[in-house]
Amino acid sequence: MYLMKDITRDGNPVLRKRAAKVEFPLSKEEQDLAKNMMKYLEVSQDPELCEKYKLRAGVGLAAPQVGVSKQMAAVLVPPLEGDDKSDGKPLFKDVIINPVIVSESVQYAALTEGEGCLSVDKDVPGYVPRHDRITLRYQDVNGETHQIRLKNYPAIVCQHEIDHLHGMLFYDHINKEHPFEAPEDTIMIS
Ligand SMILES: [Zn+2]
Repeated sequence: MYLMKDITRDGNPVLRKRAAKVEFPLSKEEQDLAKNMMKYLEVSQDPELCEKYKLRAGVGLAAPQVGVSKQMAAVLVPPLEGDDKSDGKPLFKDVIINPVIVSESVQYAALTEGEGCLSVDKDVPGYVPRHDRITLRYQDVNGETHQIRLKNYPAIVCQHEIDHLHGMLFYDHINKEHPFEAPEDTIMIS
């Protein structure tokens, strides 16, 4: 299982590289990578285990963040607090491979708290405008293609992870002069 020491930090050139496309079937190493990335997210979202292993809780982890420049990212977005209808089912959970955003809304959304990243140790305040809704196409670990529509928080998380595969970090999107200025009509998500 990955620990914080395995997570590449801002300044490591792997985080600024364009990740390579993944071929199927996955190699044993790639299968383990997928499993271990998802495992990190699961363990980090368990308050006791998170504390025990001294992890930072995360909802997404991209392969470059563990030093592998390949187009793979684990995403685990837990149900919203107080949503009894979810039955504890995550809003989105999968390892997305070779993901492509095939369409996106003109409407922007941003998190009121800004974004964080396991690879960025310092807090970078400011709004990160993202598309509120996206249509995402990706392959899963079996090479099966999925095309799904996501909105709000899960859409933001996937855009953050896909950025990692293109060598981008969340703060690249923050307005340098006016960090708390978002495009007009941006939906603020808390
Ligand atoms: Zn990140």
